[in-house]
Amino acid sequence: MRCILCQNLSVYIICKACQNCFLKPNFKTRILEDDFKVHSFYEYKEIKELINTKYEFYGDRVFKILANLSFKKFANEFTYNSQVYAISVDDVNSHQFSQGSILVKALKSNNIKPIYNTLKAQNKVKYAGKSLEFRRKNKRNYKYFGKKNIQIILVDDIITSGNTLLEAKQILQNNKCEVLFALTLSDAKI
Ligand SMILES: [Zn+2]
Repeated sequence: MRCILCQNLSVYIICKACQNCFLKPNFKTRILEDDFKVHSFYEYKEIKELINTKYEFYGDRVFKILANLSFKKFANEFTYNSQVYAISVDDVNSHQFSQGSILVKALKSNNIKPIYNTLKAQNKVKYAGKSLEFRRKNKRNYKYFGKKNIQIILVDDIITSGNTLLEAKQILQNNKCEVLFALTLSDAKI
């Protein structure tokens, strides 16, 4: 196949040279209310076209590469004194794959255990391209079906306002879980 960035022949959908050149993570932290830390690996505008492959049939291969370069490395360096669980705020996807599940899976390591389909949005409203006002009025209305009394890392592909992460965190806290921090692939500062 051809690399989707440079068009050279490659065994991966993004060739190793492009991965090294253009996809070095730049670890950043944003702090939301109540000292809730959200760590991200890329600036959204720099990888926007790659993030948008979540709407394409080949998007899973792009997300696996991005997840390996960022989430997987983070997980291998992460140490903690007890078992931590990773949960995506968005693992139900109307397309062929779930980008949230790919990111969560990449965190599997000594201290981190991925869990799937435990946090479900009751409101399937799409936020892409919508205003902050619209997002505020149309909450995801999450329900949590997982274990209580656990420590959690929340995962998403993008942080914009942070409202989705804060909403998910609140629901988890209502279920007696502690959210340690969030990890997002990209930060779209607004
Ligand atoms: Zn390339």
